[in-house]
Amino acid sequence: MERITIKDKTFAINIPESKIQARIIELAGEINTDMRGKSPVFLCVLNGAFLFAADVFKNLDIECEISFLRVSSYEGTASTGHIKNLVGISASLKDRHVVILEDIVDTGDTAIYLLQEIKKHQPKEIRFASLLFKPKALRHEVKLDYVGFEVPNDFLVGYGLDYDGLGRNLRDIYKLAE
Ligand code: 5GP
Ligand code: MG
Repeated sequence: MERITIKDKTFAINIPESKIQARIIELAGEINTDMRGKSPVFLCVLNGAFLFAADVFKNLDIECEISFLRVSSYEGTASTGHIKNLVGISASLKDRHVVILEDIVDTGDTAIYLLQEIKKHQPKEIRFASLLFKPKALRHEVKLDYVGFEVPNDFLVGYGLDYDGLGRNLRDIYKLAE
């Protein structure tokens, strides 16, 4: 399907499934090489990264674990602004090699927050993998160790990414059409 409609918006295909899957095999290959013998813990950031995490994980052939977490954000009072809350870290990360699996890094706010919170658990090393990266939107200095695709500042849906809760089940990634 070249074009799809979700609610009031039309989206055009941007990254086809075949390209996503081929790139994930490459990324998983790099991770296998880098992390072999380190028994890493992968942290999948819900909801958006669930398909990416599953496809990376299926292509790993090293000893490894996976755990799932979520950043919930809510509007605080006017003085405190936007408050984030991290839920779901149950495994002990102390002295472990950790690899964060994210769907997309946009401004980098979430990435910075995740890194700061996960550091408190005193891991040996934290690496960051994101399927998508919008370099033009980035507002922080964040080191991304594994990036699937650099994309422009378009609004994307599919393959885990949603528009108003919908579209996560699409196998391809679509961008908002003008
Ligand atoms: P950041 O904190 O880097 O600004 O943004 C991270 C979050 O914003 C992502 O995890 C995702 O939920 C959302 N986001 C950023 N860009 C897009 C996009 O193009 N499409 C969708 N569906 N979500 C996005
Ligand atoms: Mg995300």
